[in-house]
Amino acid sequence: MGQMDGKVALVTGAARGIGQSIARKLAEAGCDVALCDLKAEWLAETAGLVEAAGRKVKCFEADVSQAAAVDAVVNGVMEAFGKLDVLVNNAGITKDTLMIRMSEQDWDAVLDVNLKGTFLFTKAAARPMMKQRSGAIVNVASIIGLIGNAGQCNYAASKAGVIAVTKSAAKELASRNVRVNAVAPGFIQTRMTDALPEEVRKKMLDAIPMGRFGQPDDVADVVLFLAGNASSYMTGQVLTVCGGMVMQ
Ligand code: NAP
Repeated sequence: MGQMDGKVALVTGAARGIGQSIARKLAEAGCDVALCDLKAEWLAETAGLVEAAGRKVKCFEADVSQAAAVDAVVNGVMEAFGKLDVLVNNAGITKDTLMIRMSEQDWDAVLDVNLKGTFLFTKAAARPMMKQRSGAIVNVASIIGLIGNAGQCNYAASKAGVIAVTKSAAKELASRNVRVNAVAPGFIQTRMTDALPEEVRKKMLDAIPMGRFGQPDDVADVVLFLAGNASSYMTGQVLTVCGGMVMQ
């Protein structure tokens, strides 16, 4: 028996990295899981992990920054599973460069996926969750949204925005028993960070008190906590998962 038996979860950006790990952990805890990514065929590996945990899975193709596509995913989840208990807004991108060189397109792309995508999915999921009088939304922010970073002003702004949306939605939805919290990961080993130059990785490692980079499962465990009953009296909170890199 899993701690979340019978629950239905939806994870965006679930094809790989942190999103894949979150989907697998939710399935292992007992959830049926709906997966969303830009291309449905990329979700095959994650879908296999959910099925291996003995849970139902359904894959949806959507760009999280497109309102009509987002609404179609949430409607599809309701049709397939009849309810939605957990939403994890994980899809995210970077387009790093110093501010003076950053194009308007690089700014818009990151804000559209990371911030607008979180708003659109939270809004779409809030309707069925408010009706049900229960739900948990977990947003994947970043420590960069708390401390800023040279070369990431678009990403930092998007993740600070995600934190602000988290707190505002938490206040709006609390009376309907819908909780909204965020995790703020530090440096986690995924394709997103594999792309960074060696000297940047070395500098990051020196700034981590625990002396190691995080793994996707380190983040997924905290998402699982915020999605489940163990955090039933928490809303509007931001939990950092960063080996002590940032202490609030
Ligand atoms: P990742 O390996 O690049 O995975 C992100 C997933 O989101 C990919 O499958 C990606 O698809 C998908 N995605 C991108 N744009 C999308 C869109 N418009 N609609 C739907 N899906 C989309 O990244 P990750 O490291 O696991 O990151 C997951 C989340 O954690 C992100 O929000 C990221 O900002 C956050 N985070 C990561 C770190 C870290 O150190 N890795 C630290 C702090 C926060 P594609 O294959 O097309 O890219």
